[in-house]
Parts: sequence; C-alpha cells; structure tokens
Amino acid sequence: MNPTALQFDSQHIWHPYTSLKNPLPVYPVKEAKGVYLYLEDGRALIDGMASWWCMIHGYQHPVMNQALKNQIDLMSHVMFGGITHQPAIDLAEKLVKMTPKQLNRVFFADSGSVAVEVALKMAIQYWYTAGYPEKKHFVTIRNGYHGDTFGAMSVCDPITGMHSLYRGVLPEHYFADKPICRFGEACCDEQIASLEQILKRHHHHIAALILEPVVQGAGGMWFYSADYLIKAVELCQTYDVLVIFDEIATGFGRTGKLFAAEHADICPDIMCLGKALTGGYLTMSAVVATEKVGNTISQGKPGVFMHGPTFMGNPLSCAAANASIDLLLNSDWKNKVFNIEKKLKKQLTQCAQLDIVQEVRVLGAIGVVELKKTVNMKNIQRLFVEAGIWLRPFGKLIYLMPPYIITDDQLQQLAGTIYSILKNHPNEVTVE
Ligand SMILES: *Cc1c(COP(=O)(O)O)cnc(C)c1O
Repeated sequence: MNPTALQFDSQHIWHPYTSLKNPLPVYPVKEAKGVYLYLEDGRALIDGMASWWCMIHGYQHPVMNQALKNQIDLMSHVMFGGITHQPAIDLAEKLVKMTPKQLNRVFFADSGSVAVEVALKMAIQYWYTAGYPEKKHFVTIRNGYHGDTFGAMSVCDPITGMHSLYRGVLPEHYFADKPICRFGEACCDEQIASLEQILKRHHHHIAALILEPVVQGAGGMWFYSADYLIKAVELCQTYDVLVIFDEIATGFGRTGKLFAAEHADICPDIMCLGKALTGGYLTMSAVVATEKVGNTISQGKPGVFMHGPTFMGNPLSCAAANASIDLLLNSDWKNKVFNIEKKLKKQLTQCAQLDIVQEVRVLGAIGVVELKKTVNMKNIQRLFVEAGIWLRPFGKLIYLMPPYIITDDQLQQLAGTIYSILKNHPNEVTVE
C-alpha cells in the first residue's frame, strides 16, 4: 500500500472511538480467508475477534460467497414498503423457528444499535396503545452496552457510556446495580434488590427492562448468573414491565446455547439480534417480538409500528443471513463451541498466575483475561500483530471470541501468544 494512503487515513478517516489528532496506528488488511486476516505486507494474523463477534464461519466461506453471488444476480436491493421477497420470508421463518417459542413477529433493521432503538420504540408504543402512555422510561443494569445511537446510548452504562457528555439531550433512565452473582452460581434476593427497588418505586413509568442476557459485552465482558435473569423476569411480570433481551453479541451459539436466554429457559417479550446474524458478511439486525406485542401495537392508535428504514429487509443481507443460519444449524456448532470453551479454559487459565492479571473468565466461545491495569493499546496491539494474532483489547480487558471454525492449533497459538506476551512484556502492555 502506498504510504500516502495510510497518511490520508490518519488525517481524514475516523475509525471507531478514535482521535483525528493523535490516532493510534491502524493495520491495513488486504484480504481475509478462514480465520486469517492478511495484511498488505503479507503477514497473516489469526483473527481472535471474529471481527467483533460477527464472522462465526470465518472469512470467504464458499457457501456464503456463493449465496451472495446468487442473490446479487437476482437483486441486491428493493424497497420493503409495499413489496416483499423470498429471502426476507425465508429469514423471518428461520428466526421464528429458532428463537424462543413465543417470539414470532419479526422486524428487520440495519444494525445492532438500530435494533435496540426499534425495541425501545416497540415497548413505548405497546404501552401507549394499551392505555399507559406514561410508561415510557426504561430500566437496565449497569455495565451494559447496547449501541451508539441516542436511544441505545441512554441504556448503556452511564459511566463508560459517557452520559455526562450528553446530559440534557440523552433520555434519562433507571440503572440497577450490575449483577455480581457469577455465571453458574445462584443469585440471592439481595443481589437483585437494586432492580427490585427500582421496579417497585417506578414501574408506573417503566416500559421495559432491557439487558444483555448472561454476557455483558462491550460494557465489561462480564458473565452473570442465569438465576438473576429468572428473578428479573419474574419481577417484571409482577410489576407489569416488558422484557427486552439484547442478544446482538450473544446470539447464534456464542455462549454455548443458540441464544443466551436458553441458559435461563426464558422467553423475553422482545429480542434484538445482529452481529453474527449475517455471518458477518453484511450489516443487518432483527427484532423479534411476541404476538402480544405485535397485536397490541397494531390495534388502537396509531395502529402501525412507526419505523421503516430505507434498507429494511435488504435482500443481499437476508441471503447472507439465510446461508449463515443454515450453515450454523447444519453444523455441529454446539460441540465446536464446547470444544473452544474447553480449550480456552485450559490454555487461558495459565494467565491467571501472572502478576499483572486480575482474573481469567471463559464462557462458550468467549475468553477474557482481565488485567489489573489498563492496557497500553498501541504497545499490546503491536506485540500481538508481530506474534501473528489479531486482538483488540479495551480498558483492562483482553478478550477473544474466535470464529467457530478455528482449529485446536490456531486456538493454542492465540491463547499461548496472549500468555507469553503478558509474561514477557508486563510493563509494556499496561499503562500506569
Ligand atoms: C455491538 C452491540 C450493539 C450495537 O450493534 P451495532 O451493529 O454496532 O450498532 C448493541 N448491543 C450489543 C449487546 C452489542 O454487542
């Protein structure tokens, strides 16, 4: 790549959460195949991030590529207002079938953040039509992440989501304490008391509880008790509050269940899907709701759900999602994820002995090494790339969620490299 291209990039292009004044280095990727990212200079990196949870089948999967080629020769896009098409119908059928039983009304949106906006709007419109227009606030749990648009931001953790910056324009909602009961443990009443207090006091104004079930992602990579979810949903039923599960990161097998809701055997009123929905090929999300939510919104006034993106139900995205879901369901995904979990538990755990490491957590195909101090992004990224792996830590967290197709050897290389870099460069990889 021409060096001036990188220079142009650093001066003119915003990357996610970056400065245009002091940008950190970016690594130019030329091609990606299987679990590998190929840099412009020819180096091959094992992608431990699946491009932020998305690429569950890896890059350039022949079945995925063919499905998109077939669809592009029919139509890439067509408006969804007044028009329908087979790829959208097929996808809706698959989602109705694979998500928890009562979820059977599907809304297609553009990205995860928009799916969250849509879910919040559905909950508000549900109560409006049902005759409770004052129920238009939300309750969530601290440490969460739901996206970067205004509605989604308003239910992200108020500290890491920088709510102070947007005070006055961001809607203000209710925040219960982060669930401290860990995954696999029970949750005692005391550990959910904060949520109960809020519901008890404010349910007249609360439309829904929104949370990421079992795994809190970008807000802190925290795995919490399925018991908490069961109790939370019971409380919501008691206090007449809808439940929205944001499964944008957890969906499609990542936690060892097709959807994290299954760990608690719960069906929410509304579920948000995104990220791995299209196998990472294209941007698309879906909001799946119960018949009750769909019917309530559709009767009374305004009688329609007030949302309709330009690229709603994009046929190319639908084709990618259909191919990805078929690939997943026809594969032995459960065993693959279980195997990744087993290997990560074995190989990442050795990091816990290092002085700079706070703790190691693994659930499904997700591994987390939490450090005692904040990572030095520039240094650690360079060390990872030089060692042939791609990871993108944040805060104190080094985490990985590889494509499900990763082999045992590649996993060993990922986990082993994390260990040796933390061991050999303890001072370089963190900041004071
Ligand atoms: C990534 C993510 C989102 C936002 O999705 P985008 O496609 O980035 O808008 C929302 N919720 C969760 C849980 C996520 O992980």
